[in-house]
Formats: sequence, structure tokens, C-alpha cells
Amino acid sequence: MARTDKAIQVNGRNYAWPRQPLVAVCVDGSEPDYIENAIAAGVMPVVGEMVQSGADLRVDCVVPSFTNPNNLSIVTGVPPVIHGICGNYFYDRETDTEVMMNDPKYLRAGTLLSAFADAGASVAVVTAKDKLRTLLGHGLYYGNGRAICFSAERADIATSDDNGISNALGYVGLPMASVYSSRLSEFVFVAGVKLMAEKRPDLMYLSTTDYIQHKYAPGTKEANAFYAMMDGYLGQLLAQGAIVALTADHGMNAKHHFDGSPKVIYLQDILDNWLGVGIARVILPITDPYIVHHGALGSFATAYLSNGVDPTDVINNLKNLSGIECVLDRAEGCQEFELPEDRMGDLIIVSQKDTALGGMAEDHDLSGLNEPLRSHGGLAEQTVPLIFSRPIDVVGGRRLRNFDLFDLALNHTA
Ligand code: ZN
Ligand code: ZN
Repeated sequence: MARTDKAIQVNGRNYAWPRQPLVAVCVDGSEPDYIENAIAAGVMPVVGEMVQSGADLRVDCVVPSFTNPNNLSIVTGVPPVIHGICGNYFYDRETDTEVMMNDPKYLRAGTLLSAFADAGASVAVVTAKDKLRTLLGHGLYYGNGRAICFSAERADIATSDDNGISNALGYVGLPMASVYSSRLSEFVFVAGVKLMAEKRPDLMYLSTTDYIQHKYAPGTKEANAFYAMMDGYLGQLLAQGAIVALTADHGMNAKHHFDGSPKVIYLQDILDNWLGVGIARVILPITDPYIVHHGALGSFATAYLSNGVDPTDVINNLKNLSGIECVLDRAEGCQEFELPEDRMGDLIIVSQKDTALGGMAEDHDLSGLNEPLRSHGGLAEQTVPLIFSRPIDVVGGRRLRNFDLFDLALNHTA
């Protein structure tokens, strides 16, 4: 039984011990309108009740408004300048390679999940996509039965040694779901409800995929069906006596022309044209192994310039392009967005709400985009919901972030 009198400190922040199971849910790409529309349509009665009797906040996520930087911020309680994960990959100047950042060796801060587990709490983590699993599960020890961490995508290969559970697929009792389906997220909730019933972990972290949000706008039939699905499982978790805290890693916006074609600034083509080929290298940190639904097009990019190239003119010229929100040099951009300077380029570029950033047009495979482009990454996707099943006493005047979730849920719930 967990002791309720102790608190722990993680990355400089204090957290009270959970008094009852806490379920933190990160709904990938959940622009606030999705839940607002679903509640208004009457298909999210449970969250509708949470909003009424608990707490319904709008807070800022981390920019770049991408999945990994935000999920890692939520579970560490600190921004990327401290935990180091600022995108799906970065360019390593020393080795001249583009490096995927989904390996825990790039994580510079421990998670509060592992800190609680080390202090005696039981912890369960279920993610939709496997790309997040090793990062979220970093530091968890599976030898004492207190930690479980697996993904829906790879539930079929979960083992006691690596995940704290063997045969997770059989345990959840659903067939394997395609990584490009809403069923991958439903698998996460079914697993969460079952784990709560049978293991009753002190802390649970559930993370979905934004497959639906990339395709369908808030209030559409498909979006409402997805949120109705989630609502049912959240109701079951609440009925099991858990506190539920719901947030998003980032929002989502349409980034296409009236005719449905993607509205994109192809930065690599533009910089090659201005500077000559081989002078600038554009990195799109949204790029990951699952690009079918966004074609690697988001609203945030960073660019490296060859030694000796003064960024000032490039910055000014980029600022004049239609659809650009802001262009900052590395120091300014990392200061503004709390990012690690050693993993960002010389320029940090953010596009406006309706515009995406690309590299070279010919490199983007848009054949999988069956619906007009919806994506994220920029400032326009920074506002996310933060909803609790209990009222929150919030200290006034503080800028609230999605990575304050555990602080508010553990230290500030009534
Ligand atoms: Zn995401
Ligand atoms: Zn996405």
C-alpha cells in the first residue's frame, strides 16, 4: 500500500504522493475544439461532467508542438531545454548525420513515473505508437512487478523483462490494431481499464495517436465518434475510483488551400535557390517513421547554415515570405521556446496557422494524404485542454503548461 505522507522531488519540482490512482491521458493532437464540439454534440457526457464539476483549463504546450517533446515534458514536468527531446530527430553536426531522438540515451532528465516507481509506487504506461514507449518507460524497473510499459503497436512482442507484462495482446484481448487506425488508441483505453481493474496502479499514463485528428476536423462525425469512444473508457476509469487528468500534446489545424491541396513553404528549395545547393540544411523535426497522414509537413522547422554564412539576411528574407509566423536565430529561438541549443539549427522557423513547412518538394510523399492536410508544430497549435475530474486550486498569475499536469493533479486537487 502506498504511503500517503511522502512527497518526492523530480527535476526540481515536488510532487505529493497519489492519494488514489491517478490516470493521466495525453490525447494526441487534441485541439480544444474537438472536446468542446463533442460535449456540445452530447457524445462526451463523462468529460462534460468533468468540465462542470472538476476543472477545465486551456494551457500552453511546448513548441515545437510535436508529440515526443510534449509527452516527455509531461512525464518529466520540465521543458525540452532540460529533458533534451525537442523533436523526432535532430542533425548531429559532429557526425554529419540526422539522428532519430526516440532512444532514451537522448533523454537528459528522469521521468516522474520512474521516480515514483523507485519510491515504491506502482506505475502503468500504455502508448499507442511504439516510438514513445522506450522514452516514456525510461528508468522503469520491471523486476519487482511494480511497473508496466507497452505500446498498442507492439503489444504482440511485450515481455516481462522489457515491458513488465508478457502477452500484452492476449491480456488486453483485442486483435492487433493498424498503426494507421483509431483502433490503436482504443486498444490503449481497453488496456488502461483492465490494468486499473486488476493491478490498480498508483499512476497510469495513457497516450493515444492523432490519426483521427490529422484526418478529421473537430465536430465531424468521425471525430465525434473517436471522442465518444474515449469518453466511455474514461467513465469506466472514474467508476473504478481513479482521478482522471486529460490533456493533449498539441493542437491541430487545417493547412491547405481551398482546393484541398496542401499549403506548404518548401524551405530547402527556397534556401537552395537563395544560397546555392549545399549551404543550408533544413530539418523537419515532425518526420518520423509514420508520415502517411501528414507527409512530414508541420509548422516548425530548423535550418543549419554552413560555417561563415551570416544568418541575418536569411532571417530577414524568410520573414518576408507569406505564411511565415516567425524566424529566430538559435539563441533567440531556444530562449523563447525553452529548447536545447545543441540540438537546434542556426535558424528556427515557424509557419502560420494555415501553412506548413517542407524541405524539398520532391522529397515529400503526399500520396498517403487522402484528406486535405491537417497538421501541427507551430504556435497556432500551442493551446491545449487540461481537464481534471476534480477541482483544482490554481495559484494565480502562473502560466500553466500541459507539463504541469502531474503537479496540478497531485498537489492542487481538492
Ligand atoms: Zn502528437
Ligand atoms: Zn501528428
